[in-house]
Amino acid sequence: MHQDLLNDLINALTILPGVGKKSAQRMALYLLDRNKDGASVLANTMLEALKNISRCSRCRMLTSNILCKVCSDTSRDNTSICVVESPSDILAIESTGGYRGKYFVLLGRLSPIEGSKSRRSWY
Ligand SMILES: [Zn+2]
Repeated sequence: MHQDLLNDLINALTILPGVGKKSAQRMALYLLDRNKDGASVLANTMLEALKNISRCSRCRMLTSNILCKVCSDTSRDNTSICVVESPSDILAIESTGGYRGKYFVLLGRLSPIEGSKSRRSWY
């Protein structure tokens, strides 16, 4: 028997960045009351993504294949590598459509002052 699944769902939603208790409550009620189909798609897609998405073996972008879309695209310029801090940088640059080279994701920030790599908890 489950004690408080509604409360469990609300707490689970608060792990998202920028989502406090109030927003989590609103999301939980919306999903359960008004959009059960959407909630089901969200839950299934999240499980599939968790199971199947890992890092591109070449550039470390997130992908469900061994190589990501950019690395497996033979029409892109192999001689140009754009070093970025996180996967979100790739999405931002790709949305402009102006860059035709490849990427490499550092997964952290290079700090010239500290001289060491610091990891961010969210990208
Ligand atoms: Zn890649």
